[in-house]
Amino acid sequence: MRLYEYEAKKLFSKFAIPITAGEVVETKEQARTFAQKLGKPVVLKAQILFGGRGKAGGVKFAHSPHEAEEKAGELLATKIKGFPVEKILMDEKLEIEKEFYLGITLDRVNYKLVMLACSEGGVEIEEVARREPQKIKKISVDVDQKFYPFWGNSLAGWLGAKGENLKIVGKIAVSLFNLFKQCDAKLVEINPLILTKEGKYVAADARMSVDDDALFRHPELAEMGIEKRHEEGEMTEREKLAREWGIPYLDLDGDIGMFPGGAGFGIMGNDFIQYFGGKPANFMDSGGGPTPERLAKMLMLLDENPNVKAIFGARFGGISRCDDFAKGVVMFLKDHGLSKPMVLRMTGNMWQEGVRIFEEEKKKNPQIFKNIDIHGIETPIEEIAKRAVELAKR
Ligand code: GDP
Ligand code: MN
Repeated sequence: MRLYEYEAKKLFSKFAIPITAGEVVETKEQARTFAQKLGKPVVLKAQILFGGRGKAGGVKFAHSPHEAEEKAGELLATKIKGFPVEKILMDEKLEIEKEFYLGITLDRVNYKLVMLACSEGGVEIEEVARREPQKIKKISVDVDQKFYPFWGNSLAGWLGAKGENLKIVGKIAVSLFNLFKQCDAKLVEINPLILTKEGKYVAADARMSVDDDALFRHPELAEMGIEKRHEEGEMTEREKLAREWGIPYLDLDGDIGMFPGGAGFGIMGNDFIQYFGGKPANFMDSGGGPTPERLAKMLMLLDENPNVKAIFGARFGGISRCDDFAKGVVMFLKDHGLSKPMVLRMTGNMWQEGVRIFEEEKKKNPQIFKNIDIHGIETPIEEIAKRAVELAKR
């Protein structure tokens, strides 16, 4: 879960990472009042859950209360990177001497944490990382290890800090690490860490993402108003619907609807489809002994997706039995019908009974089966995948 800049900055201040005393505003009048109160030039920053606001016009400066009101009005009226701006973080406009990058994240390849520092912070950091990776200093830390102050100092020295500043920047690095660990974060980033013309270090931006699955361990976040949120910006309408229904589901860019049983079978099914030259339209975990209602929702997600041309169904009956599955699907076919062709295979617990239920129903109601091709264990899964790929090509 990503945090807004103003939320991450609240945590920064708890961990003694220096920030300026900004304020969140939601109207242009509030923006004017803030600028008046401060009596100095201000920066106005759109609060959206994405970085790169600077380049997208989401960071503005104002040198008078009137201008602050104007700029706030502009921000609130436009979309930044496609997202409406509801909140603006206002701060004193800092006079920048130099911008640095400091961040910590998971190194998923080496199972470690990694602290990154670069003396060329600011909006071009991705470019630096790509072109001149040697300019980024890394310190790897075992997950159960602490971050020693001398590592912080060494990073600070590498960033060019001297004397008293060496300790100040070193401490910021240690605090950043502690914040990361204590919040079960996946990423904490200061970009830029600013050295002001007066010689002070300030975190001018804050990006942070925490592990959703660890949120239950952090009632303090909820107390600060940082609630679990759906990252709607990243989700398609179908994914939102699936989430509402409690179905693990992701849209992909192909045309074969995937209805494969549990998550593992789901991944394998997607591999099979790709192996035979097809492209899955989604990933779905449709396992866990779904009730008829749940099966209906899953099939609806696929059938109502305009990108889907054919449906790949593969069911392995474990604790949940194929006959129950078949009854649920039949119920869906009767109530809603399926407009897309589906090839379906059942194996495992009670698969013969499942096939029998389908065949019996087919005798009574052949019209609801006109698009459906049902198989048992005699047909290898590869054949089912190939057939789904062929169906999607028609
Ligand atoms: P991002 O583009 O979403 O990462 O937004 P940032 O908050 O990092 O702002 C982008 C850029 O705006 C920074 O790299 C700075 O160059 C500039 N900026 C942000 N805050 C200030 C400020 O207080 N004073 C000045 N002079 N520049 C700022
Ligand atoms: Mn930034």
